[in-house]
Amino acid sequence: MHQPRVLEKFNFIAIAINLMVSLEYEDSFVKLAGILGGEEYVKVTRALLNNENSTDEEIASATGLKINIIRKVLYDLFSKSLITGIRVRDPKKGWFVYRWRAQREQVDTFIENAKRKALERLKVRLEYEQNHQFYHCGNKSCRKMTFEEALASFFKCPACGKVMNLINNAKLIESIKWKINELEKELKIK
Ligand SMILES: [Zn+2]
Repeated sequence: MHQPRVLEKFNFIAIAINLMVSLEYEDSFVKLAGILGGEEYVKVTRALLNNENSTDEEIASATGLKINIIRKVLYDLFSKSLITGIRVRDPKKGWFVYRWRAQREQVDTFIENAKRKALERLKVRLEYEQNHQFYHCGNKSCRKMTFEEALASFFKCPACGKVMNLINNAKLIESIKWKINELEKELKIK
């Protein structure tokens, strides 16, 4: 089924899951990290799995990435509860460092929460599409407007000057409903 562009971001998780299934040789923790942040996240999480309780600097020497990039990745993963950090004193240097550990058991929860959020956004969007009429000039680069907005500019596109006409959003509504149904099945709500 062809889906409009507006649905692409909602498909993100579905694509991500398919990717995870297709790359079975890679740890799901690393795959999720790659989906969240790309190659740098993959390198950092692989290093963490290879060497549990690594410090920032140990990850830096294992990956060759800059320390500030590694910290950015680690803090992001920490804020998403995908890793934990323990503050310990470095015996050689005497100061405190963090030792990081992957929370692999959090991967499924994280994905489920992401799906729930996507589902909520889709429901809001569905209601908005069902309760509004939209007008558009036909130019792909111009945005569609609500009736109120179109009325305020006398049904002339403020961007290109062409006349705006009522657009039929039935197909979009169908696509959103389809996606909601898919997510509800995946989340076993239905
Ligand atoms: Zn226009």
